[in-house]
Parts: sequence; C-alpha cells; structure tokens
Amino acid sequence: MESNPLGGKSKPKWFGTEVSGYTEVPVEKRCGTCEYFVKGDLCKQKIVLKDPKVKTDKKTKLKKVDAENGCCSFWEPK
Ligand code: SF4
Repeated sequence: MESNPLGGKSKPKWFGTEVSGYTEVPVEKRCGTCEYFVKGDLCKQKIVLKDPKVKTDKKTKLKKVDAENGCCSFWEPK
C-alpha cells in the first residue's frame, strides 16, 4: 500500500480526491518540494494526471497544483 505523506498508511476516505488523494492544506510535504512538480504550478505525476478532480492546464495538459499547500498520496522528494 502507498504510504500517505498526509499521515498514516491509508488515507481516510474523506481526505483528498479519490484518485490521487490530492488536497490543499498546509502540510510539510507539499507540491513545491515534490519530484513531480514542474515550474510554477504544474504536476506531471501519472496518477495525478488521471485525476478528474484536479484541474488540467489547457496549454501543457499537466495538472494545476498549489506549490505551497497542495499535496497528494504520491509525493516524492526531489
Ligand atoms: S505532491 Fe502530488 S500533486 Fe503535488 S506535485 Fe507531487 S505528485 Fe503532484
């Protein structure tokens, strides 16, 4: 099972989106420090890319995330 940077081994059902667990709350492991973060506010992680609840950037087709407060179940250190 994926470990969840937001706490514990499994994410509570109500926490984050169903597909990737993406959420925007102040956490230590955030998009801005993640391996999959691309410049300003974009994410290229393959599961996040399939998450219909995370906005898609029209130009790049990558997902728009919050560098400061965004995080998901797939956070990896840079
Ligand atoms: S924490 Fe998740 S949503 Fe944020 S950049 Fe990393 S993979 Fe993408």
